[in-house]
Amino acid sequence: MRRRALAIIIALLASLVLGYQGPTARAVQFLWADYRAWAHCRDLSRIDGPHFFVLYPPGYEAEAHLILRLAERGRSELALVFGAEPRGKIRVVLHPSPADMAAMWRWPGGHTAAGAYLGGTLSVLAGASEGELYRVLVHELTHLFVDELARGGSPRWLSEGLAQLLEDELAGSLSVVPLEITWPPPDSRSWQPLDALFADPRRQDEAYLRSLVVASRLVEELGHDGLTAVLEHMGRGMSFAGAFKRVTGRDWAVQLDLWARRRGEGSPASREKY
Ligand SMILES: [Zn+2]
Repeated sequence: MRRRALAIIIALLASLVLGYQGPTARAVQFLWADYRAWAHCRDLSRIDGPHFFVLYPPGYEAEAHLILRLAERGRSELALVFGAEPRGKIRVVLHPSPADMAAMWRWPGGHTAAGAYLGGTLSVLAGASEGELYRVLVHELTHLFVDELARGGSPRWLSEGLAQLLEDELAGSLSVVPLEITWPPPDSRSWQPLDALFADPRRQDEAYLRSLVVASRLVEELGHDGLTAVLEHMGRGMSFAGAFKRVTGRDWAVQLDLWARRRGEGSPASREKY
């Protein structure tokens, strides 16, 4: 056990040195998720479906069955969108409280979420309505699909943007997002990699909103097929900008300028209702 803990610590330090993205960081995330699930879920019950298994505490069997059914549905809908399927059986942990989820992932004090994804493992908070559960599962499963296709090489803004977009498309938006505030996306001169915004706790809302706007624009421009191709190129080691250029023939900076020049044309038609 001691040796295993030491190996985990060394691997985590290595991931900090080597950066958040890429296959090495991804391998460390899988190791960490396995270790945390092993440490946290030993006393939980388990039910299995074709592509998932759900770990749940006593008294949550009915909700675990519901999650299994919704997860299978979300997976097959996302497989149609991405034209690809993740390999292996996916672990879902059902948490009775936000504190239990935070304890499993060793989050710092006060951090809570309705769902989480890391290293092939999904976490879901109990007590939500069926619609809300499905929304959370689609969001977290999108992270898993992006992670698989890009082999850990996707920037966070792209994964968060797509997760929100597909949550909206497949599970129906439950929140009203004032997209016109952040539309259009920044031009290349003011473009800051959005991942830097995620790193600033005071600008998280802005980071999520801007990611959603750029991801929506990307899907409009490339279609889901083009987007999958971009992710697959990143999975072979390309940067996002390199993969975008390979698929579209355009520089990412030129694309941002093209969008910026459309300023004044209004927000995308499908989103004008917001
Ligand atoms: Zn997310």
